Amino acid sequence: MAVLYRSDPTRGEVYARVFAQSLPAMPFHIGSAPDPAAVEYMITWTPPADLSAYPNLRLIFSVGAGVDQFDMSALPPQVGVVRMMEPGIAQQMAQMAAMAVLSLHRDMPAYLSQARQGRWQALTTRDAGRTRVGVMGLGQLGRAVLAGLAPFGFDLAGYNRSPRDIAGVDCTTDLAAFLAGSDIVVCLLPLTDETRGILNDAFFAALPDGAHLVHLGRGAQLDVAALGRALEGRLASAWLDVTDPEPLPQDHWLWSHPRVIVTPHVASQTDAAQGAAHVVAGIRADRAGQDAPGLVDRDRGY
Ligand code: NDP
Repeated sequence: MAVLYRSDPTRGEVYARVFAQSLPAMPFHIGSAPDPAAVEYMITWTPPADLSAYPNLRLIFSVGAGVDQFDMSALPPQVGVVRMMEPGIAQQMAQMAAMAVLSLHRDMPAYLSQARQGRWQALTTRDAGRTRVGVMGLGQLGRAVLAGLAPFGFDLAGYNRSPRDIAGVDCTTDLAAFLAGSDIVVCLLPLTDETRGILNDAFFAALPDGAHLVHLGRGAQLDVAALGRALEGRLASAWLDVTDPEPLPQDHWLWSHPRVIVTPHVASQTDAAQGAAHVVAGIRADRAGQDAPGLVDRDRGY
């Protein structure tokens, strides 16, 4: 019985301290384990190339919220995958979404362009109550984002695969109806075979004229050429926290487009101590014969 941590070693020291306090009987190794056969739990961003060295592995804990970096079909069938769910992730995501939504709603891209030209010119404000903000993906992060947006008085909507009931939010499973009504769309879907490239020409064509996109999910969900076409047409502006590839090349047109704001995948960062506490809770649950919080459905991909 042992834990192997394979990620940033400085953060690994924080994990080691939390494990020493919370699970002192569990050997905790950073980087490599003296006896790989003893490793039952692995904390990592991507697994080692050859997992057969770890025949008793039970759970892989992702150090980040997404699990799309794992090739699920290449993992041994008995190994579970657990996503990172520490509370700071949702809090930071709610902050980032509020900043991006308010910035696009209040014409920040235009004001930044005007400021660079020394131009003092007011643009007409829009009523939040008549502005529909639609969130795609009503998981833990999508719901936190909606809760964070509630005080600003927007008309709130949500789209999700399975039906959801959230007070004050018009939830639907009908993507076309959702897009037709969304003045500002926030994408918080996980990256799966179904959502890869979902922000495409058809997506932009379904939005109302003058709509805005806030993309906080995964870069591969966005067809960048389609975004370029949409910006020449009905799309007013976009905030992209995720791109494909990452880092976005320095000479990419997205950096300098006057109606696009790019941030370098910084919406949420995992706090190491809280992340370690999430892993400890997962191991305790597993030892008790229960599912670890955040255990993903490998077939579904999230
Ligand atoms: P969850 O697994 O909690 O929620 C995902 C939600 O998306 C579920 O409600 C699910 O529906 C819904 N969904 C999945 N596929 C579809 C689909 N094809 N159509 C409609 N709805 C769908 O994930 P989180 O909320 O924790 O995280 C969401 C994503 O945010 C992560 O996967 C990651 O990619 C991204 N992220 C980005 C970060 C950043 O820094 N930019 C940081 C952290 C996460 P159902 O209820 O039916 O299963």
